[in-house]
Amino acid sequence: MTQAMQAHELAPRAELGGEVMIELRQVNKWFGEFHVLKDINLQVRRGERVVVCGPSGSGKSTMIRCINRLEEHQKGQIIVDGVELGNDVKNVEQIRREVGMVFQSFNLFPHLTVLENLTLAPIWVRKVPKREAEQTAMQLLERVKIPEQANKYPGQLSGGQQQRVAIARSLCMKPKIMLFDEPTSALDPEMIKEVLDVMVQLAEDGMTMVCVTHEMGFARTVADTMIFMDRGEIVETAPPSQFFHDPKSERTRLFLSQIL
Ligand code: ADP
Ligand code: MG
Repeated sequence: MTQAMQAHELAPRAELGGEVMIELRQVNKWFGEFHVLKDINLQVRRGERVVVCGPSGSGKSTMIRCINRLEEHQKGQIIVDGVELGNDVKNVEQIRREVGMVFQSFNLFPHLTVLENLTLAPIWVRKVPKREAEQTAMQLLERVKIPEQANKYPGQLSGGQQQRVAIARSLCMKPKIMLFDEPTSALDPEMIKEVLDVMVQLAEDGMTMVCVTHEMGFARTVADTMIFMDRGEIVETAPPSQFFHDPKSERTRLFLSQIL
């Protein structure tokens, strides 16, 4: 067990009566004939931390990729921070500005230094002055605990360090929401903790987060809400206390018995 996991659970968000930041209403998606998302309903409130788990192929990645329209849904509504995602390019751009995403693969630019990876979008997309972008980048590298790596190239870093750079790069755009898609599953075991610790820190700082992960220690520590997906459906939505100890669905029970 890592330190992050031994830490007592973060306080549940009593104030989670706040505004809805992400809403999926009866969302359906097909890949050709294949019905990958079936009547998905989901609400995520400001500051809420949602952890999504489920078997491989159940539609977890597809669902969170729909939230910043890396995938298109065909039916239902997705509303992020009051803006509906559809074919309106302006809306899509607005939402992508507010939503950061971290993937299993780090997707850093290999020919740019860590600092350049972090400042590229702020300088060129947001028109932030270079000095200011670099200052923010250095603060974020401190936050993910690798300021000394600023002038190295991604290939010179370990997987855990690269993933922390990827998180810092997302944070440089000052997102209101962070989506994580199995951010530690490509990492060697000894590097998982350093990435989860950064995510726990983000959670403590109040970030609205949707995390697909099978790190159940992390889930118990940070989740306000657990979601179990299977075959394109949300089978169960529950607070961790209930989810882990008394799941309603037999499918959830079976899944948990396999991974815990
Ligand atoms: P998970 O993240 O839960 O493992 P995914 O959302 O990646 O599941 O995939 C759900 C299902 O959709 C899988 O059966 C997968 O093969 C299929 N799928 C994912 N992406 C595509 C795609 N671009 N085209 C066709 N099928 C896809
Ligand atoms: Mg996936």
